Amino acid sequence: MADSPFPPTVYADRLRRAAALAAGSGASGSNGHPAGTPLIVTPGPDLAYLTGIRSESFERLTALVVTADAVSVIVPRLERAILADSAVPGLAAAGVTVEVTDWVDGADPYALVGARLAGGSDPSGTTVAVSDGTPALHLVPLIERLGLKVVLATDILRRLRMFKDAAEVAELRAAGQAIDRVHARMADLLRVGRTEREVAEAITAAIVEEGHSRAEFVIVGSGPHGADPHHDVSDRVIEAGDVVVVDIGGPLASGYNSDSTRTYSMGQPTAEVAAQYAVLERAQAAAVAAVRPGATAESVDAAARDVLTQAGLGEFFVHRTGHGIGLSVHEEPYIVAGNDIPVQPGMAFSIEPGIYFPGGWGARIEDIVVVTEDGCEPVNTRPHGLTVV
Ligand code: ZN
Ligand code: ZN
Ligand code: ZN
Repeated sequence: MADSPFPPTVYADRLRRAAALAAGSGASGSNGHPAGTPLIVTPGPDLAYLTGIRSESFERLTALVVTADAVSVIVPRLERAILADSAVPGLAAAGVTVEVTDWVDGADPYALVGARLAGGSDPSGTTVAVSDGTPALHLVPLIERLGLKVVLATDILRRLRMFKDAAEVAELRAAGQAIDRVHARMADLLRVGRTEREVAEAITAAIVEEGHSRAEFVIVGSGPHGADPHHDVSDRVIEAGDVVVVDIGGPLASGYNSDSTRTYSMGQPTAEVAAQYAVLERAQAAAVAAVRPGATAESVDAAARDVLTQAGLGEFFVHRTGHGIGLSVHEEPYIVAGNDIPVQPGMAFSIEPGIYFPGGWGARIEDIVVVTEDGCEPVNTRPHGLTVV
């Protein structure tokens, strides 16, 4: 397992801000937690963000408990080694005391959580904010055995995770460059006569070769399959004349993800395909140009949609324009109609309009952008045109 990617001071700062939000400085958000709501965070991107602990949820409970005045980790003794690779051992020197309690099979880890919440008294009736990936396996005992009232911690954690610091932006930039190198090799990987699955296997290897720890997703949508935004791969053989959507990404060792789509043409496209694709290219550029501090997420979505609608292609753009990205491939903020959140420096998200003609073909262009003081920085820089291979 990789060491936590940033120095302990970074995690200490995140934990202090999480504790402040949990203590109620502005924590009565749209889902209305009362001030003073402790946080319970189980393994997943939220835990990795706050502590550098990179593990999965198993049947044995691991949990970070953040109250206004204490930070605790409850961990099964046989998984205690996961802490060694995290920021936890360095946090004391960075000014945050973390109380680590391990437990052995037969002990009650939920009671340990309860003790951390209420300082030893009965936690029953306490409202806690729980990370949204917490399995029901652990959530139900927290509710039923401890009598806790639970709300989602999403509102608190997104306020932290949405804003990337310089070190996180550097990771996203490195991830963008790594996936760009894979797209740069597409003429070798994507060949007429290969199946989508064969191409995807070659791309998966290239994603790792170019610096990712693994491929998280590989979409190769050829011909009519490109018209289905949810298609991943099949045994369809790629033919001359196909338009092929290639949407790929994965995490670096740090856990930060890449995600980029380019569309390829197996030989020269028809005039109609070229003309419709050119509209998509303008739509994607318009959305990137609309990104600046204070612009709402929905206005960025509308910038892409308006270009397509004016060209009569609006009905073929059937999904939102983008999603935030970081330790998760999909996270806040979502670039979608109805989301009036203003984008701010440090936010990172995809701009990925597409056009989909059922039974015919489809195309998508996707870059990750990071909001700057006066616009945005795309971390993907491959050409946007319909690349003929
Ligand atoms: Zn994508
Ligand atoms: Zn995406
Ligand atoms: Zn996606």
